[in-house]
Parts: sequence; C-alpha cells; structure tokens
Amino acid sequence: MKEAPKKINVVPFPELRQDPVSGDWILISQKRSLRPDQFEGEEEREIFPKKDCPFEDPQASGNGPFMIRIPADTRKEWTMQLIPNKYPAVSTYGKTSIEKYGPYQVAAAIGYHDVLITRDHFNNFPKLSPADAFNVFKVFQERYLQVARDRRIAYVSIFHNWGPKAGASIFHPHYQIISIPVIPSDVAHSLAGSTRFMKKNHRCVHCDLISFERKEKKRIIFENESAVAFTPFVSREPLEFRVFPKKHLPYFEDTPDKEMKLVVQVLHKSLSLFEKKFRNVDYNFFIHTAPIKNKRKYGHYHWHIEIQPKINISAGFELSTGIEITALDPNEAAMVIRGKKK
Ligand SMILES: [Zn+2]
Ligand SMILES: [Zn+2]
Repeated sequence: MKEAPKKINVVPFPELRQDPVSGDWILISQKRSLRPDQFEGEEEREIFPKKDCPFEDPQASGNGPFMIRIPADTRKEWTMQLIPNKYPAVSTYGKTSIEKYGPYQVAAAIGYHDVLITRDHFNNFPKLSPADAFNVFKVFQERYLQVARDRRIAYVSIFHNWGPKAGASIFHPHYQIISIPVIPSDVAHSLAGSTRFMKKNHRCVHCDLISFERKEKKRIIFENESAVAFTPFVSREPLEFRVFPKKHLPYFEDTPDKEMKLVVQVLHKSLSLFEKKFRNVDYNFFIHTAPIKNKRKYGHYHWHIEIQPKINISAGFELSTGIEITALDPNEAAMVIRGKKK
C-alpha cells in the first residue's frame, strides 16, 4: 500500500554547490510540483524466477570454483561464495607496461574481476541478517588483502548493483570486486582534493564534513557510536547518501572488526529505511578507499561507502558541463528516508 502523496516544502533556491573534496559543482533545483514518492515510479520490481537463476548453484551453471566460501567447512551449506566473474572485464594475465599507439597510450587491462554471491535469491543487502551483512564486508576485506599482494594492482573497486537500472544483469543479489592497474579518475580527484585540504587546513576534509553534519543534524539518516549515514549537502542524485566510520580510518582493508561491524550496521539500517520507502528504486553502492599503490602516502584519506539511487538521467546540460542537476534538497531527502520529522 502506498501512502497518500505528501507535498514537501520547496527550498528557496536553485543553488550551485561545490564539493570540497572533488571540486565538482552541482545544482540543486527542486521542481515546485515534486513529491519524493514520485521517485518510486509506477513500475514494480521485476522478480526473475529462482528456477532459472544461474546463481542458485553457481558451479553447476558453469562458473569457476569458489575462492572464498562462508562457512569455510564445505560439509555445511554455503551462505556466500566468491567466484571469478564468468565474463571478466579485465584479464588476469599480462604486463602493465604502457605502449604508444599513434597519439594514444594503451596498456593491457590486467586485473581481477570477482563476484560475491549471497545464498538467498530474494534477500538483497537490507534483507540479509546482520551477521551475513558483516560477512559480506569481511569477504571484501579478505579478497582485498589477497589481490593487494599482486604488485601490478593499483586500486580495488568494490561495488553492488541492485536492479537493472543500476546495471545488474542477474537478479540474484551479488557484489563485485574489480582490481585494476591504474588509479581511476574519480578516486584520483577525491585523493587530490583531500590532499589539498590537508595541506591547507592540516585536517581531514571528511572528518570536517562528518563533524559539520553531526552538528547540523539536518541530513543525518542514522548513526551509532562508530559510524554515521547522511545525505551530502552537495548531493549529485536525489536520495544519495554516504556512510562513514567516525574514526579517521584511511584504509578499508585495515579496518578492525569492531569498527567494521558498526559501519555495516549503519549501511544495513539506512538501506532498510530506504527500501521501506523506495523498494522499487534501483541503486549502486560502492567503497572509496585509499589506493594500494603508494598506500602510505594517503594516510589523510577517510574511507567511506557511497549509495547512489538511480534516479537522475544525465541530459545535455550534465553531459556538456559535468554539473549534475539534483531535483531534491538533501535535507528533505534525509527526512524522507528517516521516515519521520526531525
Ligand atoms: Zn537465484
Ligand atoms: Zn578523516
């Protein structure tokens, strides 16, 4: 049952806002007629039948053997398993040397492309038990530490696509890890921005953002003693939010279990709240962390998780300028996701 549509207060601007980390500008421009429930759309999520699902028995469907399994004891039923992607975007073999091709530079796309499958066909991340949600992140960490030993790898991208609009080609909930020999440009901007801020202010930019958001309280979705979720003041998508460990932790892979459990709890709780309101909205979440290459150079970085619902369609203005137009005030977004006033 859908609740009766509620009109929300319209913010008294279009306003340009600059992200202090990436330097990117965005434009908050809320339509007068907008109701947050419009983001849900009319379409119900399509459920792919379990009997045809290739992830019910990954090995019987032609996938490779698992690399990590929980529980490790194979006499017991698996709850999650990490396998090599059947159609990898990168290749495990090759050198990282860059070659010239006319005016261009090319290199072999070496790396690893892994898929983590959780057992239940219907239980996406917010529906996992807290223990399984934590185990998903423990597998991420374990695999991260394995690939970090390969000296060719510069960065490990860990992400989840939920729903076809977010790029999931298989319905069954799964998570991906792609390890690559270069530092990707978005991460490079984030690293450069945090370095710039540190040089100027002698503080971590993300620690500053966290303390500002916790003081303002307007955009907080959920927090516990060790982690916090909020909609960024500079949101690129309506309903976008981020999860940060409160403690300054640069390296995802080195985060102690005690902190990780509480970070995962905040992600799990926030996505449950999100799904209660917007169960048919597809989304991606991904981790941003200090890279493997020159690891110790980035002690001022602060790892976090970004959750981006698939709502915006990039049109001419976005494509020609890189400025995203966000149609919902992040203050309203946090309030709608929390499901209660204040
Ligand atoms: Zn399935
Ligand atoms: Zn920090």
